[in-house]
Amino acid sequence: MRCPFCAADDTKVVDSRPAETGKEVRRRRACANCDQRFTTYERAELPLLVRKRDGTTEPLQIDKVQGGIERALGGRMIPEGVVAGILEHVEVAARAAAPEIGSEEVGRIVLDGLKEADEVAYLRFASVYKDFQAAQDFEKEMAALDD
Ligand SMILES: [Zn+2]
Repeated sequence: MRCPFCAADDTKVVDSRPAETGKEVRRRRACANCDQRFTTYERAELPLLVRKRDGTTEPLQIDKVQGGIERALGGRMIPEGVVAGILEHVEVAARAAAPEIGSEEVGRIVLDGLKEADEVAYLRFASVYKDFQAAQDFEKEMAALDD
């Protein structure tokens, strides 16, 4: 942990105790360089959950989202960083919505990201994700892309 006063890397924990009903650990640290003391709080990161359409929840698995995007891309090349950007967006949204985000929201974020990057991947992902019932829906989406 870097010292907030002088930015030296050499700080030592001088005291450690539970805080706030045991959800956090409070640590007093001392800087070996400037002798200033400061406090840090450590808390477990809450697992991010996805609420599925049937109402059940499961842990958000970014790998799984990535797998879905990659299947939709099917080897198509899209600008580097697009997938990473989409995944980051999903994670930020899930954190903001914590403890749980709706699976439709995750899907919407992915769709928005793909729509900008690759129309074919967008339609492929949409066909799986939105559970299109009829070719009609597909055509509507295609038409919408021409706007
Ligand atoms: Zn310092």
